[in-house]
Amino acid sequence: MAYKITNDCIGCGSCETECKNEAIKQGEDTYVIDPDKCTECVGWFSKSKCVEVCPVDACITDPAHKESNEQLLQKWHKLNPGKTPEA
Ligand code: SF4
Ligand code: SF4
Repeated sequence: MAYKITNDCIGCGSCETECKNEAIKQGEDTYVIDPDKCTECVGWFSKSKCVEVCPVDACITDPAHKESNEQLLQKWHKLNPGKTPEA
């Protein structure tokens, strides 16, 4: 399940620099997550980095993008060709 950013976002930008899939960009009102690039940090970390660094808990799972661990790992491989998963 990809993550999404709620309207609670205060635009600090911390999550953007932490996302190793480069899934987070500055949007019009809040930062936004590209569900095609978010792997819930599967492949990189055991916990989601954006959730860890967000000071206002604005990063939440998006029920509109349900995916299994296997699907998330497949997505990670597509985004990071030739690399070995670190988590
Ligand atoms: S959960 Fe991980 S991959 Fe997804 S947007 Fe947050 S930092 Fe990026
Ligand atoms: S870390 Fe939280 S408050 Fe900061 S830009 Fe990301 S979602 Fe917004």
